[in-house]
Amino acid sequence: MKETNEFKTETKRLLDMMINSIYTHKEIFLRELISNASDAIDKRHYLSLTNNSIASDSYQILVEADKDNRTITITDNGIGMTTDELKEHLGTIAKSGSKEFLEQVEKEKTPDVDIIGQFGVGFYSAFMVANKVEVLTRSVNEDKAHLFSSEGLESYTIEDADKDDFGTKITLYLRPNTEDEDYDKYLDEYEIKSLIRKYSDYVRYPIKTWVTKYDPKDDKDDNDKEPKTHLELETINSMLPIWKKNKSEVTDEELNNFYKNKFLDYQDPLTSIFVNVEGMLTYNALLFIPKKPMFDFYPDKNEKGLQLYTKGVFILDKCKDLIPDYLRFVKGLVDSADLPLNISREMLQEDRAIKKIASNVEKKILAELSRILKNDRAKYEEFFKDYGVNLKFGLYENYGEKKEQLKDLIILKSYNEDKLITFKEYLDKMPEGQKNIYYAIGTTKEVVDRLPQMELVKNKGYDVLILSDDVDEFMIQVLKDYEGKEFKSINKDELDLIDEEESKKIDELKEEKKDFLAKVKESIPGVSEVVLSKRLVDAPCCVSTKGEISFEMERVLKAQNHEVKAERVFELNPNHEVFTKLEALSNVDKDEFNRITNVLYTNALLQEGILPDNPKDFSDYITKLILK
Ligand code: ADP
Repeated sequence: MKETNEFKTETKRLLDMMINSIYTHKEIFLRELISNASDAIDKRHYLSLTNNSIASDSYQILVEADKDNRTITITDNGIGMTTDELKEHLGTIAKSGSKEFLEQVEKEKTPDVDIIGQFGVGFYSAFMVANKVEVLTRSVNEDKAHLFSSEGLESYTIEDADKDDFGTKITLYLRPNTEDEDYDKYLDEYEIKSLIRKYSDYVRYPIKTWVTKYDPKDDKDDNDKEPKTHLELETINSMLPIWKKNKSEVTDEELNNFYKNKFLDYQDPLTSIFVNVEGMLTYNALLFIPKKPMFDFYPDKNEKGLQLYTKGVFILDKCKDLIPDYLRFVKGLVDSADLPLNISREMLQEDRAIKKIASNVEKKILAELSRILKNDRAKYEEFFKDYGVNLKFGLYENYGEKKEQLKDLIILKSYNEDKLITFKEYLDKMPEGQKNIYYAIGTTKEVVDRLPQMELVKNKGYDVLILSDDVDEFMIQVLKDYEGKEFKSINKDELDLIDEEESKKIDELKEEKKDFLAKVKESIPGVSEVVLSKRLVDAPCCVSTKGEISFEMERVLKAQNHEVKAERVFELNPNHEVFTKLEALSNVDKDEFNRITNVLYTNALLQEGILPDNPKDFSDYITKLILK
């Protein structure tokens, strides 16, 4: 008996789109059909747990090409379909994924061809490459077999058929080649093998195809030039992915080779992280930190993201929603059983499972870093040299949203110890009475050492963190304090270094010298304030800043074309001889006084690594001084 049925309207629309699709990744049809086959085997296997009579011990998916007839068949020994199921599953679109796909396409007047690949439209994708599709199937729930056949237009037919064993055999009659599209390539052994490996390598059941073999024995007693070959059925996919194994079952060499092949690195990774989660949400992740940041000729192609698989089927190369920006250097993949195959990029962003996985992946990476910091300091320093700046940015980003998670992973150079230390280690070594955490901006210890502002801190024996990355001070500002201890810049903040009495004395003196200080301020263009310093010992003066913007920030922001100026404060050491001389001079020779204050000020700026706005004036001053 043969019956003809009309496709439902929705299905027609979808089919129409498949047939007329100019989508370039038509090859995904094989992934879709293999994945359906694998699901069908899953279902049969599941049923067989309670119904032994339908069990099989040789589940497999067979992909065969027939060059003469230009057909490809995909055969599984899964659950099969009854007539009703054929109508229901292949005659209508039940799946939400396909429905959404349709809606998306209808929304856009000219459909974006790329979205086909993002959705993955299951069975119907066969019509991208075939103009006729036959489905010969026998359900484990029915004695009879059926043949579904369609040319993808208006209707399909279903008729009774013969089939010995359970399962489904799908035959695709390839379309004729066109100028733009060579459908014959799907008949090619190598193409089939490479598509299986690319998309379906980790499907749990063996995917077999006929492979040409050459055996020298076949060529015996033969003068023929052509080598003799024969065909053998071979399993192409590796089935059990390395990330599904237990970490203890995988050797380092295996893991390193996997990483190098998959992520195209020539070095072993710095570290690898296995994640195995079962429960409400089941997934595996395998993550790697490359030894060195990957060099990339095309930085814009170097998108962040982890590979995404669902049930071993490859979905997406760079799923950016799985990894936060600051961990963009992490390579790896996530395989979840809880995501549909047809998930789109747009859906991924909103997907709660993805969000949950991403947050867990982030936690695992940070936990691993923390472990390395604790157990292998040298390795952590190696890591931090290349990626520390990413963590610092991560801490700074979004107003310090991640500061709690990241603050203990930061290491900075210690002035006293001349090595990298954590904030916690700084705190642990703080002598009694030290109220704040001090830091200085400078590229090296030597540079910082020369700053006059260091004198008092050094005298006290307090340690100073040396900040050398552009982002450092921004990060410190977001942090504000560490376990209640405030961060103080030796270049700008009130340092609380002298005792109250002395501080009061200076304040009183400041009042007394008000007029003199005003004169100094007047003589120097561009200075915001002139004060008596509470941070100097031997040096006559220094420049500090007040307000949010420091000299370092001024420099960093300037490099990004933001013209902001730090407010300059000229600090004079009231205990220095220069101070006395200058005060005397202020009442006698105004010109000379002006010259000297400007030279002192410019000098102090130079010590901070800041060039004078007008170098010519400065050199004129110096010349005049020499000639005096
Ligand atoms: P999806 O697989 O995403 O549900 P498809 O359009 O690919 O969507 O398939 C629709 C349905 O047809 C499947 O859910 C399944 O029930 C049935 N089906 C497809 N292929 C097979 C197969 N090889 N064996 C058994 N059932 C199948």
